[in-house]
Amino acid sequence: MQAFDFAAPTSVSQALGLATTGSAYLAGGTTLVDLMKLDVMGPVHVIDINGLPLAGVTTQSDGLHIGALSRMSDVALDPNVTSQFPVVAQALLASASPQIRNMASIGGNLLQRTRCDYFRDTTTPCNKRQPGSGCPAQTGVNRTHAILGTSTSCAATHASDLAVALVAMGASVRLQGQSGQRTVALDGFYQLPGTTPNVENVLQPGELIIDVVLPPLPWATTSSYLKIRDRQSYEFALTSVALAVELTGATITDARVAVGGVATTPLRLPAVEAALRGRPATTATYQAAATNAATGAKPLSQNGFKVTLVQRAIVRALVELVGA
Ligand code: SF4
Repeated sequence: MQAFDFAAPTSVSQALGLATTGSAYLAGGTTLVDLMKLDVMGPVHVIDINGLPLAGVTTQSDGLHIGALSRMSDVALDPNVTSQFPVVAQALLASASPQIRNMASIGGNLLQRTRCDYFRDTTTPCNKRQPGSGCPAQTGVNRTHAILGTSTSCAATHASDLAVALVAMGASVRLQGQSGQRTVALDGFYQLPGTTPNVENVLQPGELIIDVVLPPLPWATTSSYLKIRDRQSYEFALTSVALAVELTGATITDARVAVGGVATTPLRLPAVEAALRGRPATTATYQAAATNAATGAKPLSQNGFKVTLVQRAIVRALVELVGA
């Protein structure tokens, strides 16, 4: 591990003032410390932000605010989250392990790095870790990689379950930098890999996530998160579906659908949502809508199964949530 210096500010302004080239913020440490031990990340200044007052879930005029330093396990059990946005609570409980959920922060969860094995192995090239070095996943081991939003430079999936649920719910993140605060829709926060897979989001150097804002969505009480993985615990998604449905009688009047595990970013699917709106809540409707889920997919040599998997997962999630 590379040597680093350490600071523990107690206010946002102090933390922002300490941020400089080569620094990294430390919250739960469940990603950063792992990657420092592997020499995948090597900050020379580590800024421990756990003393900042950024934890807690509050109801404000624009929606539910989840502080960036709230722990995953606390948010998963928060009564406002479980009652208003079950999909968010379920996505959190489907993530990692209880021990990790007790440590990991909401902000850190959104910024976690990919689980592509090449990224975590410094003996191999990887454009995300070392720009311009290549992407061995294109022709190598790529069973768990993305089929949507990929480029020839990178096909790594985004690992967060929470982000998929938040994108489906239309959440935003509030960011604080030296020059002020801004709010960014989470849907536009993550960037496609293109030719620069090392640039994963729109965070500017030194900017902090302050909180996540979930705008009111009364029918999100009918929502769920389905995660398909190789084992039922402590595993990343092969595909996942975040879903909310508004029903009037037996007709779907509105829907939110986002998927994870198949794309390079958490991915909302407006074409699937449109194909559900105004249609009867039947398996035939779900199947027809789900055919839109993988439009434009570019499978690699080992992950073509994800095209069918994501479509079937959407149908199953709808059947389980709404019935058929
Ligand atoms: Fe690196 Fe992305 Fe290629 Fe994985 S898929 S080896 S993270 S460039």
